[in-house]
Formats: sequence, C-alpha cells, structure tokens
Amino acid sequence: MTDRVRDRIERVRRRIAEAARRVGRDPDEVELVAVTKTVPVARIREAIEAGVTLLGENRVQEASDKIALLNSFPVSWHLIGHLQTNKSRPAAELFELIHSLDSAKLAAALDRHGVSLGRQIRVLVEINLGGEPSKTGILEPDLVPLLYACRAFTHLAIEGLMAIPPFRRNPEDVRPFFRKLRLLRDQAATACPDYPLRHLSMGMSHDYEIAIEEGATLVRVGTAIFEARPVL
Ligand SMILES: *Cc1c(COP(=O)(O)O)cnc(C)c1O
Repeated sequence: MTDRVRDRIERVRRRIAEAARRVGRDPDEVELVAVTKTVPVARIREAIEAGVTLLGENRVQEASDKIALLNSFPVSWHLIGHLQTNKSRPAAELFELIHSLDSAKLAAALDRHGVSLGRQIRVLVEINLGGEPSKTGILEPDLVPLLYACRAFTHLAIEGLMAIPPFRRNPEDVRPFFRKLRLLRDQAATACPDYPLRHLSMGMSHDYEIAIEEGATLVRVGTAIFEARPVL
C-alpha cells in the first residue's frame, strides 16, 4: 500500500514538472496540495512519509480531528471547502491557508481572529467562474469590490484566487476557465495594487496539468493520489 501511494505521488510530481516545463515555468513555482478529505489517517501518513507537506481538507471538523492525530508531522493544512463564519475561529487556528474566502463578513471575522491570534490569516478568494448556482464562491464582478472592502483589515493577507470550474469530461475544455481566472487575477491586481495575488489555486486530479499550463501555483489533487473516495 505504502508503495502505491508513494508511486502515485511520484507520478503526480513528475507530471507537474512536465506541465510546468512545457510552458517554460519553473516546476518549483507549483505546489502540490494533497486532498485528504474522507481519507483515513493511516493513508494520509503514507503520503506524508512519501514527502507530501501540504494537505487539503474541506471540512473544519474532519480536519481538526486529523490534525490532532497527525500533529507530530511537519505538514501544513489548507482549507479548500466552504467556510461558514461560525466556524471561522477554529479555521483561523488550524489552517495555514484558507482557499475559500467568499464574503466581506467572513473576511471581517477572519481579520478579528488574526488580531486576537497575533498573526496574519492567509486567504484566497474563491471565484464561481461558471456562475453555477450549486457552487460557492463570488461572481467575477464582485472581486474588486470585495478587495476594496478588505483594505481596512490589518490581519488578513489576501494572496490570490481559487476556483473549481464546471466539470468537463475533456480537461482541455476546462482551459478557458483557468485562463479566465488568471486574467481576472491580473486585472484585480492592477485595480487594487494592495494585493499582488500571487497564488492561483486551480486544477484537480483530472485537469491539473492544464491548470499548470495556465498558471496554477497550487494544485489540489485527491483521487490521483488516494484513489476513488468511498461514497458517503
Ligand atoms: C475534493 C476536492 C479536490 C480534489 O479533487 P480530486 O478530483 O479528487 O483530485 C480539489 N478541490 C476541492 C475544493 C475539493 O473539494
């Protein structure tokens, strides 16, 4: 088992590097976030032992339990799922990067937690690129207003954008969405220079290579490492 997770991670890393080189990027610009939602702790351990250092979870409670069991390992945890304001305090304490900022209200709460914890809370703004009602994230026109609203916050570090584009069977068909996220980032960074927005969190198991070709700095990969998730 251990070797299988290790082999899969090796393969994903090799593909990340190849995708980066295809477009003249330094492979070190792309960080792998291993998505461990629903994955048991023993298997997460195998991934850590194979060299993974960034782990992504989409629920605060599930992550909290796992973090407690794996706290002796030098890894950091990213929240990639939707965050409700009433769970923002534990989220601010547990996660090194929150990929799912989607309102000024949540931003204000995280900023307050940053003040009381005495450190910056690092976040990405989640964009609902396809405007799909079933998905969280803000719509594109709301990005710059949100960034302006956040300028007063002293303990919130907005470092980039995240998106989960609409599913397309052919990953090549997702490319326009990734490209759109990068353009949106470039425009927003120009409109609101307080935030350089260096990160683009985009790409999952079936399309991360395309996302890297379009500028991803964080890819969130679950099933390609851990195989199919059990149906809950
Ligand atoms: C589950 C999940 C992923 C990983 O998806 P895979 O297809 O298993 O790679 C990435 N991002 C988010 C937000 C997720 O919820």
